[in-house]
Amino acid sequence: MLSKLLTACLLLTTLSQAQQGPIDFEQYNPVSTLVVKENPVARAKFPFIDVHNHQRGMDSGSLEPLLSEMDKLNMQVMVNLSGGTGNSLEKKIGNIKSANSKRFLVFANIDFSGFGKTGWTEFTVKQLVNDVKNGASGLKIFKNLGFSVKDPDGKRVGVDDPRLAPIWEACADLRIPVLIHTADPAPFWDSLDNNNERLLELKIHPRRQQKNEEYSWQQLIDEQHRVFRKHFRTTFIAAHFGWYPNNLGKLDSILTAMPNVVVEFGAVIAELGRQPRAAKYFFNKFQDRILFGKDSWVPSEYATYFRVLETEDEYFPYHKKYHAFWGMYGMGLSDEVLKKIYYKNALRIIPGIDKSQFPL
Ligand SMILES: [Zn+2]
Repeated sequence: MLSKLLTACLLLTTLSQAQQGPIDFEQYNPVSTLVVKENPVARAKFPFIDVHNHQRGMDSGSLEPLLSEMDKLNMQVMVNLSGGTGNSLEKKIGNIKSANSKRFLVFANIDFSGFGKTGWTEFTVKQLVNDVKNGASGLKIFKNLGFSVKDPDGKRVGVDDPRLAPIWEACADLRIPVLIHTADPAPFWDSLDNNNERLLELKIHPRRQQKNEEYSWQQLIDEQHRVFRKHFRTTFIAAHFGWYPNNLGKLDSILTAMPNVVVEFGAVIAELGRQPRAAKYFFNKFQDRILFGKDSWVPSEYATYFRVLETEDEYFPYHKKYHAFWGMYGMGLSDEVLKKIYYKNALRIIPGIDKSQFPL
C-alpha cells in the first residue's frame, strides 16, 4: 500500500515537473511507440574474432569463465590488446598455453618510459622481436602516443616521430599488424555547448574534454596518416574507424590512398547504425578492409553490433545514451560480407590463428 502511494507520488512529481518547465536531457527517456518487426541478435550468425578487446587479468587463473561468455556470443577468438611487454606478456601467453586455448591472442605494447634516451629505439625493437618470438600476434599502440608521451626535453612526442620509425619497419619484417588508436572523437576538442554532439559524454566524463592547445584533433590524425603513408610495408589497423565513422566519404578516400590500412569499428557502431545505407555501401566496397572490434568488454552490448551488421531492423535502441541519443538501423549485410568482417579478414591479417575453427 505504502509503496503504491510512493509510486503515485513519484509519478505526480515527474508529471508536474514536466508540466512546470524544461526537462533535463539526461532524464528525458521517451519509450519508442514505433511498432515494427524486431529481430534481436544475442549471438553472431558466424563465429567471429574480436580484434579489439582488453583483458587485464589474463596473467593467471582460469580462463574458463571468459570462454563460456565468449561461447554465448559465438566469439571464437578474442584478441587481448593489453598484452604488455616482456615478463607480463610472457605470463599471459603462458597462462593461455597452459589452458591449451587457441581462442586467445595477445598483442604486445610499447614501454615508452625512457623514450628518446640513447639506445631506447634499439632496445624497444629488440624487445618487440622477443615479444613476438614469445607469441605476441601484433602490436597495439595506445592513444598516449600523441597525447602524453614526452621525450627527455619534455616535448610531446608526435605519432610520426622519426625515432619510432624502426618500430613500424620491424613490424613489417615480423609480419605483424599494428593496431593503433590515435586521438579521440573530434567533438572532444570542440567547445562544450548545446551544439556539441558529445556534450553528454563530456559532462559524464569531463576528463575526456581536450583543453590542451598543444595539438588539435586534425594534427594528431595527420601525424597518424603520415606514418601510414611512410611505412607502406606495414599493415596498420586504424582503431575506431580512424575516428571517421561519421564521415565515410573521407574514410573512403583514406583507405583508397593507403592500401596498407584496414579499420575496425570498436565503440563506433552507433555512427554506422545511424546511416545504414551509406554504411552498407562502405562495407560492401571495403569488405576486405574491415575487422570486427568492440573495445570495452561488456558482453550484453555485443547484441547491438550484431543487430546493426546482420538485420534490417529499424529504429532500435543503442545501449549507451552518451554515444547515441538516436535509434539504430540495421545494414543487413550479406553472408559473404559478414564472414569477411567476422573472421576472414582477421585470419588474413593477424598471424597465428587456427583457421580450422572457422567455416570455409
Ligand atoms: Zn581499446
